[in-house]
Amino acid sequence: MDQNNKQVAVIIPAAGKAMRFGASKPKQYHLFQATTMLEHTVNIFISIPVVSRIIIAVDPDDNLIHTQSFITNPKITVVNGGSSRTASVFHAIQALEPNHLSISVVHDACRPWLKEQHFLDILHEFNLSKECKGIYPVIEMVDSLREKRNNDLVAVNRENFMQIQTPQIFDTSSLTVALKNAVDAGISLTDETQAMEDSGFKVQAIPGDRSNLKVTYMHDLNLANTMNLRIGRGIDFHKLQPGNGMILGGLSIECELSIVAHSDGDIVLHALADALLGAGGLNDIGFYFPDTDSQNQDLSSLIILEKAMSLLAHKGLQPSNIDLVIICEQPKISPHVEAMKAKLANLLAMDTGDISIKATTTEGMGIIGKGNGIAVYAIALLKKLI
Ligand code: MG
Repeated sequence: MDQNNKQVAVIIPAAGKAMRFGASKPKQYHLFQATTMLEHTVNIFISIPVVSRIIIAVDPDDNLIHTQSFITNPKITVVNGGSSRTASVFHAIQALEPNHLSISVVHDACRPWLKEQHFLDILHEFNLSKECKGIYPVIEMVDSLREKRNNDLVAVNRENFMQIQTPQIFDTSSLTVALKNAVDAGISLTDETQAMEDSGFKVQAIPGDRSNLKVTYMHDLNLANTMNLRIGRGIDFHKLQPGNGMILGGLSIECELSIVAHSDGDIVLHALADALLGAGGLNDIGFYFPDTDSQNQDLSSLIILEKAMSLLAHKGLQPSNIDLVIICEQPKISPHVEAMKAKLANLLAMDTGDISIKATTTEGMGIIGKGNGIAVYAIALLKKLI
């Protein structure tokens, strides 16, 4: 068989209690974007054709594994882990039939940023290497380092150290021997490369991927979820008529015009609500508050904004920042910008520094330029709540 077409087994040790994570359930079951971290990691391998088996080692008391979306996938096998990572990976590799799937990959459950191409590059290097029985990705240290010596912290040269990542790829029979030796000796290791070296197998380092981070602390997961940003746009236009003032951004503005509208005509909140709903993948405000419904006659637009915010909260989303542009000849917007920002900050539970309200005219062009209309453009960025 062509070396490059060999099918591989992936082992994911997920039996850890995650003491450093500081949460009530193991970290692999926390949400990373729309799925658990474990689902995210496992799904990467499910979609790679060269991976034909995925063996997940879990704590024997782990009931959550059966709730995972991948559990019925034919590639998946779940085994009981052991008292250490080394024992868990050893249990997992024993679930592989003898002389079947000669390449084994070990990957951390909580490295959900692994890129398929990075994995395939490492596998390709492993297949090219004739004499090595294992390959592991490494990255340079970026922080300064100190070594604990008795009660002192002693400066060391970081250039003498490298950080080791997963996936690590091994010859299955060599890894089986190495893990058995480690388990028999009662040794618990933080990665499998060390077990291979301890048993005298040659392993080779390869450049890792700095974005292939390991989630260890809750902070790491917060960071992950801030990467899940969603953007939405809202636009609204209304006619103006002679009148005695209007409501913009929840503020009463004195002027000699009013907005023609079915509701209270707060065009700022309409455009803003549509931007928020858009970012949340929801419908527009006309869907939730049709202007054919007499109940919405003179409706306060605060209710529209509250509805949008509650729909977002239901999806675990909150605004990160918003940017509004109001286009009209009259009234002059700039005297009201700071009060409007404060009002919106209060309504959206945001800082005023995350809200921008700008105004412009059309230089006399068109209906708006003649003072017969007003428009608002809004953009909203949402972030996912943990
Ligand atoms: Mg409107």
